[in-house]
Amino acid sequence: MSKPLESASEEILLNDSKRLNERRIACHMREIIRLIGEDPDREGLRKTPERFEKALRFLTSGYHQNVDHILNGATFSVTYDEMVVVKDVEFFSLCEHHILPFFGKAHVAYLPSNKVLGLSKIARLVNMFARRLQIQERMTCQIAKAIEEKIAPQGVGVIIEARHLCMQMRGVEKQHGSAVTSAMLGAFRHNKQTRDEFLALVQPRKS
Ligand SMILES: [Zn+2]
Repeated sequence: MSKPLESASEEILLNDSKRLNERRIACHMREIIRLIGEDPDREGLRKTPERFEKALRFLTSGYHQNVDHILNGATFSVTYDEMVVVKDVEFFSLCEHHILPFFGKAHVAYLPSNKVLGLSKIARLVNMFARRLQIQERMTCQIAKAIEEKIAPQGVGVIIEARHLCMQMRGVEKQHGSAVTSAMLGAFRHNKQTRDEFLALVQPRKS
C-alpha cells in the first residue's frame, strides 16, 4: 500500500494533508454537535470533536491495510489436510447505513490443500475488514474470499454472529437486533459432511 516516498518533502506534504483531514473531520463534528442543539464550547464537549476524529480514525483503520499487508510471509506449506477452525474472533465494526456499531464474533474455518495461515493472522484479517464501514454480509464474504485467494484451500467457511446497535438503539425490530451470516466456499459449500463438522465445532456448547 504505502509506496516508497520520492523525497522527504513528499512525506511532509502527505503528513500535512493527513493532519488537514483530521482537522476537517473534527471541525465537521463540532458543527454537528452545534446542529443537534448542543454547545460545543461547554466543558464536557470541548475536546469531543478531536476525540471523535481519533476514534473514527481507529475504527476505520482497515482502509489503510490490505490482505497482502496482513498475510504476506504468514502462509506456510504443510501436508496437514484437516480442518483448521478459529472460533470466537471478537470484532467491532460500523454499519455503513447508520455509522453505528455492530459487533460480535466471527468463526472462521478452512480445509487446507497444501498451505496454512498463521493462526493469529485470521483475527487480524477479521479486524481489518471490520474496521471499515461495513455490512455484515459483505464482511463475511470478504473474509472467506481473502483466505481462498491467499492459500487456495479446499474450502473456507465463515460464520458471523453480531448485534447491531442501529437496530437495538433506535428501537427498530427490537427482537431482531442480532444477525447471523455465513459464507461457504469450495468443500464447505459442496460437501455436507465438511459443513456439518464446521457447524458442530462452532455451535455454542449446550450445558
Ligand atoms: Zn445500520
